[in-house]
Amino acid sequence: MGVVLLIRDLSRDARVNQLRADFVGAVSHELKTPITLIRLYGETLLEDEDFSPAERRGFYEVITRESHRLSQLIDKVLAFSKIDRGEKHYHLEQAELASVVSRTVDVYKQYLRRRGFLIETQLDAALPPIRFDADAVSQALVNLLDNAAKYSGESKSIAVRSYAVNGSAVLEVEDHGVGIAHEEQEKIFDRFYRAPNAATKGGYGIGLYLVRHIMDAHSGRVELESEPQRGSRFRLIFPAVDTGSQA
Ligand code: ADP
Repeated sequence: MGVVLLIRDLSRDARVNQLRADFVGAVSHELKTPITLIRLYGETLLEDEDFSPAERRGFYEVITRESHRLSQLIDKVLAFSKIDRGEKHYHLEQAELASVVSRTVDVYKQYLRRRGFLIETQLDAALPPIRFDADAVSQALVNLLDNAAKYSGESKSIAVRSYAVNGSAVLEVEDHGVGIAHEEQEKIFDRFYRAPNAATKGGYGIGLYLVRHIMDAHSGRVELESEPQRGSRFRLIFPAVDTGSQA
């Protein structure tokens, strides 16, 4: 009995080690594109003086956008490794969700526009008061937007909404893409898990794990509605702070 358990444990260790090795490989691969673009456009600007101001501006935009992208990827990996070591801390403060969301979407929009996407935003500013870690929530939103774009298939429209429901604040990201089979919907939040619908897409299965970790730290939750071939709607639900008013 003890031997069987030991063997099971060893094979689980081996699987996790393999997942970690795959993870490092996939991350390195994903870092390559922004780094290559930044280098390419930087070198082009250095080597040729004859570009018009408009052309130069275009190149600077690529460099700025890709550097943002690079920081987002690095933040994601750092957050993951901190969680892994039990060292991730969140700083919750009362703030306006809508303004953090619109800042994040503004930066991200430039990246998606290049790929032909349209992001529609409907942000209700009158939300119940909530406490949150702005960097972490912005990261959760980027992860959801990344996925919405990656799993959109032919569709090019994504919606971001914030609104109030039953005294909670909700942040929602909707796509009209490939969707997620019902039996996969719980599993996709597990560390390193990737559903069969992701087979042809790059990635390493930590985005939603981070999203759930972030929402747990906010005493909130994630809801998912999805239909294969119809699209997905992820909702982050933040409980309102107890303002102590007994009125
Ligand atoms: P990654 O996208 O890097 O694989 P995530 O943790 O972000 O990792 O997502 C886990 C899995 O959930 C994905 O591999 C994919 O199968 C599925 N998934 C996530 N978001 C969506 C979405 N918007 N539409 C369809 N499938 C999704």
